[in-house]
Formats: sequence, structure tokens, C-alpha cells
Amino acid sequence: MKVFTAYFAHETNSFSPLPTNLDSFRELAIFRPGMDPEAEGQPLKVAGAFYDEAKRRGDEIHVGLCAHAQPSRPTRQADYETLRDALLDDLRAVSDGLDMVLVMMHGSMLSEQCDDCEADVLARIRDIVGPDLPVGLLLDLHCNVSEAMLRAATVVKACKEYPHTDFDARARELYELCARAANGEIRPAVAFQPLPMFGLFQTTREPMRGLVDQAMALEREPGVLSVTLAHGFPWSDVPVAGAGVIVVTDDDPGRAAKLAARTGRGFFALRETGQVPLDGVDACLDRAADSPPGTVVIADMSDNPGGGAGSDSTFILQRALERGVDDALFAYFWDPATLDLAFAAGEGSTLPLRIGGKIGPGSGAPVDLEVTVRALRLDATQAHIADGGATALGRTALVSAGGIDIILNDIRQQPFTPGGLEACGAEPWRKRLVVVKSTHHFHAGFHERAAAIIHCDAPGLLNSDVHARPYRAIRRPVWPLDDIDETDLPPVFTC
Ligand SMILES: [Zn+2]
Repeated sequence: MKVFTAYFAHETNSFSPLPTNLDSFRELAIFRPGMDPEAEGQPLKVAGAFYDEAKRRGDEIHVGLCAHAQPSRPTRQADYETLRDALLDDLRAVSDGLDMVLVMMHGSMLSEQCDDCEADVLARIRDIVGPDLPVGLLLDLHCNVSEAMLRAATVVKACKEYPHTDFDARARELYELCARAANGEIRPAVAFQPLPMFGLFQTTREPMRGLVDQAMALEREPGVLSVTLAHGFPWSDVPVAGAGVIVVTDDDPGRAAKLAARTGRGFFALRETGQVPLDGVDACLDRAADSPPGTVVIADMSDNPGGGAGSDSTFILQRALERGVDDALFAYFWDPATLDLAFAAGEGSTLPLRIGGKIGPGSGAPVDLEVTVRALRLDATQAHIADGGATALGRTALVSAGGIDIILNDIRQQPFTPGGLEACGAEPWRKRLVVVKSTHHFHAGFHERAAAIIHCDAPGLLNSDVHARPYRAIRRPVWPLDDIDETDLPPVFTC
């Protein structure tokens, strides 16, 4: 079997102050045909799982463009088109005799002139390969699914777990489904139940855990090929923003529609209980102080660069200092200008630094501290949540003011693992408090050893206050902006 794969992903936060251009993709590395897919550090991410599966099966696989950027504003139009057209050229170059196409995108990518980049790319792929070739699209579960995406693809799936620890498994399933479709063994029938709700649903806790388990059980029923719970990405200001359920059956659109509607009602019913209980900064610091001995992890969800935030907000740091907290580690503060000063001063030096608070109102005010530069690194990495591959943190500086340690860096990244903090010279497990700028992906790396994990709803770009976001394009009604119930759900879409 001859297979083409590519990876082109950006989670676009319409409200982020950070621009997105070609350099944003280059920062995390771009893979092009002709490079060795098996070389260390290639940014294949999920396309790497497709590649591995093809090798395992002895299939012929061609890897096209692989590029992703840290979440931020819509991509500059010319740069989006450059990358999109490179991917399409890569496909055209190998399209003779192709049996299937497998693409990973995020599901919430916007460029300056396109509010549904996934559908745009998929439709152009369809133009090249024709109406019948199986085209599989794998998404992040924080996707805003559109009918145009579903129409252009043969099968659309997303990861099921948050933190996203299951991309490899979902990639293998998508490969299998598209291969069976290519062989004529199945005829995928797709149904989608849109769910007008905005939320963050962690699958590590009930009741979401149970719903994911139900979806997996449903997938084991004969004739049911795939069940996807799309959580949505509420910071993309587009009409299709919201959650939904995609069900794929073997040649049975009626059953797909029924199951999508039923599963959708179950998901919608969890819109309140499925949310993470959140506290403000002081309540979280109180809870941390009252936690059992060991290292307590506070998630600064509102400043997660993985959702488009600046990763330089100071609200928790400032309050911790005011309260006399003296045994804590904060990571990662994206602050290239301040980092320059730490590097200029050198390891072991003491100097005044103005930390954070620079990107916008969501960053708070900068914090002035007299710090000692404890460790400078040029090549620190952390294991990526999706594929475990080494992910660059850029230049890093570990600076200390009394018992407060802060890691500064110049590639925006959320902490995935304690090992990433250690690579910067920090000792997270010797600290009473570790504050990570992450919503939930850190959980996979920290939960086993943490004395407690506390999700903090500090001020900031990704704060849970949905009413404060200046939406212009979303479709109403949508919960929790509007008070709706299951009788208000839109109709199921089938294709
Ligand atoms: Zn996600």
C-alpha cells in the first residue's frame, strides 16, 4: 500500500496578542521531504506514528510537510499559504498510485483570511486525489469540527485523552480504518452532533473518564468504527467553535446519526459536572499550604502557552511573594529580553531582573527581584506529550531570589515533565511548591509524585471567565454564555 502523510498544526487563539508567522513554525522545526524521518528530533509528531505503522506493515510511506507552531494568533496569510502549498506540492509529487492520505492537523487552525484551515487543506487534498481515495484526518480533541472538514475527509478522529497521551493509538486506528476503506472492506458513514458548549474537560477525572470509557466500549460494538468526543477550543472566535461528537459506522448512516445524537446528549449533560473545580490565586495558595508534605503543583492554567498565552504572567508569583512563600519553583517564564540580561551577567552573578508582565494585560505587572543566576543552558529539552520526542525549550536561565526559583526561557513551552525542569538545572521535587504554566498536560508527568495538584484560575488570557472574552464571530446560543438545555441542540449532520 502506498501512503502519504503530513502534519500541519496550529491551535489558534483569536484573542492572543502573539503573532504567528513562518518563524513561529521554524522555531519548532519544519520537516521537508528529503530529510530523514528517522533522524533524532524530527518534528513529525503524529505523522511519526503513521510512519511507524506503515513501516510495521511493510507499506510504502511518503512523509510530506510536518510543521507546527505554539498556539497564538491566526497565521499570517502568506505564510499559511506557503506551508499549505508546500504540503500540497509534496502530495502531488507522490500522488500516482496512492492508496490513502493521512493528515494530522489541530482542528482549530485559523489564518488571517481563513477561519477553517483544516477544511481548506482537506478540500485541496481532495482536489488532488479525487473523491474516492481514503483521506484520514486526525485532530487534537480541542478541535472545532466543521461540516466542511467532515465532508472532505473519509474519516475524522481526535485523540480521546486529556492530557493527550493517546495520539499514537488513535493514529494506528485511523491508519487501520483508512487501509480497510482503501481495500474496500468498509464504507465509512459519518455523523456529527454539534454541541454548543465551551468548557475544559479533563479525562483524568469523573465524570469525563466514564464518558470516554463508554465511547471506547461503543467502538467495540460490531459496525461501529469510531467514536470521537470533540471538546472544542473556545478561544477560536469562529462560528463552529464548540464541542461535538463524531460517530463513524460501517455503511450505516442512520445508526451513526442515532449514536452521535445519544452520545452527544450524554456529553452535553456533563457540561457543568465535567468542568474542573477552580479557585483563585489566594485560595490555591491556601490549599497548597494546607496540603500533605511533599511537592504541591499549582497549574497556572490562565497563562498556558499551549493555549496561546504569553507564558509571562506574574499574578501567582506576585501574590506568593506578598504572602512570604519562600520555597517555590515557577516555570517557564517566556521572557527573552530578561533572559538576555541573565546570560550577559553569567552564571553565579547577582543582578536585579524585571521578570514577566510584558506581553499584554493578561500578563500582569512585571516583578522586580534581586536574583542570583544559578544555571544557564543552551540546549535544554523536555519530552513531548504527543510522542515523547525531545522538544526544545530554547535558552534557559534558572534564577533564584531567596527560596523562589524561576526558569526563564525563549521558546514558549508549557512544562510537560519534571525532567524538563531538571534539564534547566532546577530540582522540582526538593521544592514545596511548583507552579507550572500549563492547563493539564503537565498532569501526565507530575501526578504520580506530587503531594497535591491544584488547578488555579488566575487572571490571564485563558481565564475561565467566558463572559470577559470579546467574541464577535461565535454562534449563539452557546453554554455558558447562554442558558440552554438538550432540547436546544442543533441537528445531527451526516455524510
Ligand atoms: Zn489539546
